[in-house]
Amino acid sequence: MNKLIYRFNNHGTKSGINSKEVLGGKGENLAQMAKLGLPVPPGFTISTKVCEYFYRSNKKIPKKIIQETKKEISVIEKISKKKFGDLLNPLLVSVRSGSRVSMPGMMDTILNLGLNDKTVIGLKNKTGNGRFAKDSYRRLIQMYGNVVLGIQSHFFEELIENYKLTKGVIQDTELEEEDWDGLIQNFKDVVKEKTKKIFPQDVNEQLWGAIGAVFLSWNSKRAKTYRKINYIPDHWGTAVNVQAMVFGNMGNDCATGVAFTRNPSTGKKEIFGEYLINAQGEDVVAGTRTPKNLLSMDKSMSKIFQQLKKIFNKLEKKYKDMQDIEFTVENNKLWMLQTRSGKRTPKAAIKIAVDMVQEKLISNKEAVLRIDPNTLDTLLHPTLDAKAEKKIIATGLPASPGAASGKVTFSADKAERLKEQMQDTILVRIETSPEDINGMHAAKGILTARGGMTSHAAVVARGMGKPCVSGSSEVKIDYENKLFKSGDHEVSEGDIITIDGASGKVMLGKVPTVKSNISRDFSKVMLWADKYRKLKVRTNSETPADAKIAKDFGAEGIGLCRTEHMFFDEKRIISVRQMILSKTLDDRKEALAKLLPYQKNDFVEIFKIMKGLPVTVRLLDPPLHEFLPKTDKDIDNIAKELNMSHNDIKFRIIELHEQNPMLGHRGCRLGISFPEIYQMQCEAIFEALAECKKKKIKLVIPEIMIPLVSTAAEIQILRNLVNKKVEEIKKKHSIKIKYYVGTMIELPRAALRAKDIAKYADFFSFGTNDLTQTTFGISRDDSGKFLNDYVDNKIFNRDPFVSIDERGVGELIKIATERGRVEKKSLKLGICGEHGGDPASIKFFEKVKLNYVSCSPYRVPVARLAAAQAYLEKKK
Ligand code: PEP
Ligand code: MG
Repeated sequence: MNKLIYRFNNHGTKSGINSKEVLGGKGENLAQMAKLGLPVPPGFTISTKVCEYFYRSNKKIPKKIIQETKKEISVIEKISKKKFGDLLNPLLVSVRSGSRVSMPGMMDTILNLGLNDKTVIGLKNKTGNGRFAKDSYRRLIQMYGNVVLGIQSHFFEELIENYKLTKGVIQDTELEEEDWDGLIQNFKDVVKEKTKKIFPQDVNEQLWGAIGAVFLSWNSKRAKTYRKINYIPDHWGTAVNVQAMVFGNMGNDCATGVAFTRNPSTGKKEIFGEYLINAQGEDVVAGTRTPKNLLSMDKSMSKIFQQLKKIFNKLEKKYKDMQDIEFTVENNKLWMLQTRSGKRTPKAAIKIAVDMVQEKLISNKEAVLRIDPNTLDTLLHPTLDAKAEKKIIATGLPASPGAASGKVTFSADKAERLKEQMQDTILVRIETSPEDINGMHAAKGILTARGGMTSHAAVVARGMGKPCVSGSSEVKIDYENKLFKSGDHEVSEGDIITIDGASGKVMLGKVPTVKSNISRDFSKVMLWADKYRKLKVRTNSETPADAKIAKDFGAEGIGLCRTEHMFFDEKRIISVRQMILSKTLDDRKEALAKLLPYQKNDFVEIFKIMKGLPVTVRLLDPPLHEFLPKTDKDIDNIAKELNMSHNDIKFRIIELHEQNPMLGHRGCRLGISFPEIYQMQCEAIFEALAECKKKKIKLVIPEIMIPLVSTAAEIQILRNLVNKKVEEIKKKHSIKIKYYVGTMIELPRAALRAKDIAKYADFFSFGTNDLTQTTFGISRDDSGKFLNDYVDNKIFNRDPFVSIDERGVGELIKIATERGRVEKKSLKLGICGEHGGDPASIKFFEKVKLNYVSCSPYRVPVARLAAAQAYLEKKK
């Protein structure tokens, strides 16, 4: 077996070994801090490989580890001049998890190991502080009882709360040594009652119980959920860090705190943190006592504060990133317990990256690579309309910016269920815990009654880019009756509220929103991204409003204009229906003639916005019955308007009915059966172009796209149809027209026969929605019913309708790309399925050298950044 235990100040991972993989993030960073000469309590890391072994060998810990751990404990004993289990001068240790990437709060930690009925007396005598010793012991029983022995925390918490009530005190700090003595006995009774065993007095039994529990916590429900949401592989495992305890709760010259080297909410370069005098770390995050702003430490513990400031600088220089730090002060001595890259809001991520380029800490290339493209669209979405009327019912801390409205729900599971029913929710909790992760993910926003800016809710929400208001003490939650009160207001489950994570306000009802302003920093990052990307980015838009938004976001043309969306307009649908219900060609042509001016005007508007850029217009794609009325009442209305009988219409609906419409009379098959429809659409496109020419508007280059092609013959026939129409219009207006004709590749046969098809196509655009559907044979509309089972059973890593299935659908794209380019070197290749805006898929499209991606307007900046990252990572 290779080296499995690493001492912090001498971790000795061989070069070439990725030390984060072996030591986990926490272990690696503790080792790095020790190496930098920072004050880190002595300790060691048990490698992630042991976790792998643990699960492979029936949850056993190898003998070698037991021996080596003993050795390492004796090293800590030597450094700290204390002894584990000693009756006079006992060493206490913490056992903490630490995986390769940070999974905040998802796994377990046990503090104060090494205390028992006897050593607690030793600790009392040595420190001269009985209250502290007993408080530490009860914390151990409580944590060990919960994490290792599986006893629910509330059994312990209720005992403390009831005791405080009888004693008439509010804070834990008001309890004396004797009070804790009584509670320790009560806690031990709880352990005995729940486990039928006494609380372990053997300190080594405590240590191994804790190490095993940390390994087991890798597979806890919440850790699994977090991994699923964040695509973290199950096989990575966690490392375990064993470290000498230092105490922030030994008196008023002690403290504990958490800090960020920059503001994680806004990105501003300022120290941001909270601390508590005479407390242990868990008190700061648990929200049981309200922590103080770290800046005030400059007054209360000035020397330590100055030392911290220097360390923050040193760490930022070393990691070249904003750090999230935990520290403790024990009898006026500072100890560093953790540093890691801090979670931040998308807005802060951008500001920090741009500032760090200015500070010459990182290059602009690194800045581009640092920002998670998936979080960008939260910045682009609307914020609360300042002019809208607002009924503010509470205020809390502005923990994570953004506005969200939804139905109040008090449980994470309920939020998840409502999301499945497409309902927006705001998760309202006294405070959140890692158990709530699924609900936080499902909810639109989070509101908590307790907890500070670094509470669980705040940190997790910022990481998710979700609006969060935390610590709103006016909000009094009554879980049992499913309501909360705030002042005179009572809000029940299901009522709609709005939260504003930028101001910390909570409002009744749904408050309207307005477009958000794009910051200068954001534009800067986008320009850097543009410099480094090869893929062009277009948009999927069919309305002038969407086209305008997309253009403002940097779209370099339209990659998909779904013309059927123009058919659904209230004024036009009647003519569309008349066209479909027509019994003769002449009647159909008459109805189409009514649609022509509408379509033409739409195109003029879009062409005006897209001046000079390419615009891909897809000819009609969906089956005609989609446009017909469904209910008897609607049929009656149409019958009246079209002067037809109810039965005539019903009969036509039955005639058009298809067993399998996705594979039925749709796409280019419509153009083959009813060429007059495609002729009208082409006439509208080219007449619009002629009109733009007349008005001296810089002309777009239309790219006419034929959907659902599977054979070369289809595109050959339809290309002729387009060419003929263009000739007519050229003659009519005596103008020249530049245009292209191409096809969607969205059927496996089309991908395979790409060489033949390319003879008649100037471009291919991969319709990965249909291509995924037809490659897997999974209906894109019905897959929701079973996709989760497929992800749970690890058949799919990710939903293939969201992230491209590289090995199957991707293989077809590769084949079509290669075969198409063999026939026509200049063939332009793009993508217009939903995958065009998905960063993971964009990496693949860069790899197979497509020319562009096209996505919905709000995804355009996401795609610009992801395309730059894809190119830079490919070059690495
Ligand atoms: C596709 O199939 O990927 C596509 C873009 O077309 P639609 O979603 O309109 O079928
Ligand atoms: Mg399609």
